[in-house]
Amino acid sequence: MVASIQQPELNPSSGYVGRFAPTPSGPLHFGSLVAALASYLDARAHQGQWLLRVEDIDAPRCAPGAADSILQTLEDYGLHWDGDVCYQSQQSSYYESALGQLQAKGLVFFCTCSRSQLKGHDIYPGTCRTRVIRDQQQDCSCRIRVPDQQLAFDDLILPSYTENLALQVGDFILQRKDGPYAYQLAVVIDDALQGITHVIRGADLYTQTTRQIFLQQSLGLTTPIYGHIPLIMNGQGQKLSKQNLAQAIATKEAPVLLSQALQRLGQAPPQELIDAPIEEQLQWAITAWDRHKIPSLQEDPTPFVTTDSP
Ligand code: GLU
Ligand code: ZN
Repeated sequence: MVASIQQPELNPSSGYVGRFAPTPSGPLHFGSLVAALASYLDARAHQGQWLLRVEDIDAPRCAPGAADSILQTLEDYGLHWDGDVCYQSQQSSYYESALGQLQAKGLVFFCTCSRSQLKGHDIYPGTCRTRVIRDQQQDCSCRIRVPDQQLAFDDLILPSYTENLALQVGDFILQRKDGPYAYQLAVVIDDALQGITHVIRGADLYTQTTRQIFLQQSLGLTTPIYGHIPLIMNGQGQKLSKQNLAQAIATKEAPVLLSQALQRLGQAPPQELIDAPIEEQLQWAITAWDRHKIPSLQEDPTPFVTTDSP
């Protein structure tokens, strides 16, 4: 079934709707706790809603039990979300509809290039852009034609960013050969469906934002306000992620790790609240929250080591 994409009416009380959108490839680690905390505090400090979306669109990347474990950890850390959890795996009809709309505008083309054909090309060379492949065959991916023009956005935390998608990214994938819709398409549709007004997330997605804005503009959707927070590095200067085996964060350590996460966001709690019960720390942090205190990546390259990092 193909569903239509309608953006909900804004919450009239504050007009702020934020979200946390983890990929359940493993349990929540310290880096994602910091991202969750930043979006939570920014939403609550603006009397906003804070929604949760499980980005489980790419089944092979999802670890069994990880989604439930992430939800449980958020609860254990006092980060309670509003409404029902949205699961991307249940949203396919909306992605299909969006792809259809982009197709109808002549923006989509089918690509038969193999991985080896694209080897050595950081930017898609446009091989299938002008080939006429009318129907999507089994071994086709769908790509979107990107414009040769500058696209810019202002960020709440990092500097403004400008990119020419044609020169710096190339026609990117909306649906993969093996079937799944791409993150870029799914995230844009879900942010619109959930009525998200503010996206506070990790700086690893900073340069992907222009792709998302281009899709929003192509689909006539509102662009949210973006703010990207610095990444958490491990002792080796790598981003903490499930790939480099960032460890799950323990519930018993919640007060300590919450204090550390707040410090990492430049919102160090007063001495008497360090390691205090999580509710007390969160209550203080919502009131004291100041985006301007969040250190940008450039200003704070110091690796941050959690108590339980390898
Ligand atoms: N699911 C993405 C991740 O876990 C985040 C997507 C987003 O915040 O836009 O890295
Ligand atoms: Zn191709």
